[in-house]
Amino acid sequence: MFFRLLDLTIYNAYVMRKSLHGMKPFLDFKMNLIRQLIDSTGGVKPKPPHPTLSARIRDGVEIPERLTARHFPGKGSKRACHVCSKRRTVFTCKDCNIPLCVVPCFEKYHSQLNYK
Ligand SMILES: [Zn+2]
Ligand SMILES: [Zn+2]
Repeated sequence: MFFRLLDLTIYNAYVMRKSLHGMKPFLDFKMNLIRQLIDSTGGVKPKPPHPTLSARIRDGVEIPERLTARHFPGKGSKRACHVCSKRRTVFTCKDCNIPLCVVPCFEKYHSQLNYK
């Protein structure tokens, strides 16, 4: 709603100026005006997404960190794999601190919401 109103205001200003100063592409004029607006408000920059966010919401579903962060395998003591629980493995996810077979369970755990 706000932007539609802004658009209309800009367009009106453009039409007025056009009749005074002749032609200038509307898009150029609009970009200049928006730039001026942004400059006068001290700059409105979109915030980058926070990389250390523990969980994200996608379509109303909470996405666990293991699916969005970069996790790498490490070696630990031999434990039962968290995903298949059939095999015992010395590999763990260093970040999740969970025992996982490198293939295929590590990838499975970090790429599927329902990994079981
Ligand atoms: Zn496994
Ligand atoms: Zn992990």
